[in-house]
Amino acid sequence: MGKVARMYKTILVPIDLSHPEQGRGILTLSLQIGGAEARIVALYVVSDVPTSIATGLPKNLLSDYLVKAEAELEPLADEVGAEVLVQSGHPSTVILETAQKIGADLIVVASHRPGLEDYFLGSTAARVVRHSDCAVLVDR
Ligand code: ADP
Repeated sequence: MGKVARMYKTILVPIDLSHPEQGRGILTLSLQIGGAEARIVALYVVSDVPTSIATGLPKNLLSDYLVKAEAELEPLADEVGAEVLVQSGHPSTVILETAQKIGADLIVVASHRPGLEDYFLGSTAARVVRHSDCAVLVDR
C-alpha cells in the first residue's frame, strides 16, 4: 500500500483548565492523530463575566486572570509541542470562531467534565459538535 496522506494538519484542542488531566488526555490524543508535523493549538476560554458584575470589579482582574491561565496551560501544551491560546468570551462561540480563524481541520474535545455519566455530552461539547464546519472528535 502506498503512503497514506495525513488527514489532519491543524488540530484545535479546547481545554477546560478546571480539569487539566482531561486536557492532557486530549492533547496526547491529538498528537497521536496528527503526528509530529501537525499544528496543534490548545485553547482555553475564560467565560465572560456579565457587564453588570464586571463594572464592580477591578479593571485588571480579567487581564491578570488571562495571564495566569496562560501560565497554567503552557506546561500542558509544551508536553506535546502545542501552541497556546487563551481568550475570553462564550466558550463554544470562541472555540468555533478560533477553529475558523486558524483553519482547523479537526477539533478534539472531551465529552464532558470527569465523573458524569458516559452518555452525557456537556453543553460546550454539544454546541461545538452541532455547529462546527470541520470534523470534531469527542473523546470519552
Ligand atoms: P461539562 O458541561 O460537563 O463541563 P463541557 O461541554 O463544558 O462539559 O466540556 C467538555 C469539553 O469542552 C471540555 O473537556 C473541553 O474540551 C471543552 N471546553 C469546555 N469548556 C471550555 C472552556 N472554557 N475553554 C475551552 N474548552 C472548553
